[in-house]
Amino acid sequence: MWSFSRDQTLRSCERKYYFQYLSHAYLNSPDPWLRQIALLKKVKNMPMWQGECVHEAIAEFLTQIQGGRQVPFESLALALQQRMVRDWTFSEKRQFREEPGSVGRSGVALFEHEYNEVPPETQIADLVNEAREMLGSFYRWAQAHPSFLADFKTAKRRWIEPPPWGDGAPGFAVGDVQAVTKVDLALHLADGQFRIYDWKTGKRPATEKGGASNSTQISIYMLWPHLVMNFPLGKVGSSLVYLGEAQAQEVSFHLDEELALETKQIIRSSVEQAQRWENYAKSGRLKIENIDFADSVNECRKCNYKSVCRAALTRRVIP
Ligand code: SF4
Repeated sequence: MWSFSRDQTLRSCERKYYFQYLSHAYLNSPDPWLRQIALLKKVKNMPMWQGECVHEAIAEFLTQIQGGRQVPFESLALALQQRMVRDWTFSEKRQFREEPGSVGRSGVALFEHEYNEVPPETQIADLVNEAREMLGSFYRWAQAHPSFLADFKTAKRRWIEPPPWGDGAPGFAVGDVQAVTKVDLALHLADGQFRIYDWKTGKRPATEKGGASNSTQISIYMLWPHLVMNFPLGKVGSSLVYLGEAQAQEVSFHLDEELALETKQIIRSSVEQAQRWENYAKSGRLKIENIDFADSVNECRKCNYKSVCRAALTRRVIP
C-alpha cells in the first residue's frame, strides 16, 4: 500500500517511517517498546486534530445535502463543538494511555498532552472557535458558489470522505502495489466531467514553492479517475480549498499529458523506494540503530516518536 502521506513521512525522517510503517508495533505486542510505538502511532497534534474535526463536519454537511436535507450552520457548529470537547476531555485526562484501543472512538490522543507540551493559555473554547471559523469559511464558500452545490446535487456519483481501503476505495495499482488516494470529495458530474476537492484547514501558501507538495498531492489524486475509470485527462479537474482565512481560497488544477507523466514518474520512484525499505525489513537487515535520524532537530521536537527515539540521541546532537 502506497500513499502520498507515506512518501512524505519517508522524506521527513527514515526513523519515523520505520516506526510508522515497518515496526510491526501493535497495542497487544508483548514488547512494551512496541506497545509504546503502537500508541504513538495514534497521536495527533492539535492542528491535525482540529483539521480532522472540521473535515468530519464538512462531510456531515455534504451527507445531509445528499439526503435532501438543509443543515443550518449552527447545528453543524454545535456537533463540531461537542465532538471537540469530548475528544479534548479524553486526551487531557490521558485516558488514551489507559484505553489506547478506544482512541478514535471515545476521543483523541493529543501530542501536546502525551508530551506535556500544551502551550500556556490554551483553552478548549479557543480551539473550538478556531475550528468553527474554518467550518464557517467552508460554509460561506459553499453558499457563495451555487454552482458547487448544484454540481454536487446533480452529480451522477459522489464520494464523500470515502474509506481509503476496501473494495472501490479511491486509488490505482502501481505494479503490485496499491496507491491510495485519500480524496475529501469527488464528483462524477452530470455533464460527464470529474471533479476532486481537497479541504485544507490552513492558509494558502504564499509562494508556488510552498504549495508544491499540495499540487503534487492533488495531481496524484487526479490520476485515480483517469487510470481506473478511464476519464480522459481533459475531463478531470480538482480544487484545493484553503479554509484558514475568513474568505476561503480556492486553487484549481488540471492534468495534461506532460504533468500526468511527471506525476506517474514521481509515484513510481517513491513506490520503488518504499519497496526497497519493505525488502530490507522482510530480510531482517533493518535495525533501528542503523537508521539515520532526521536532518533537522526541529523535526524531532514535533515528532510523535521522540520518546522512543530521542533516548538514542546525545545532547551533542539535540541541545
Ligand atoms: S525523533 Fe527525530 S529522528 Fe526520531 S523518528 Fe522522530 S523525527 Fe525521526
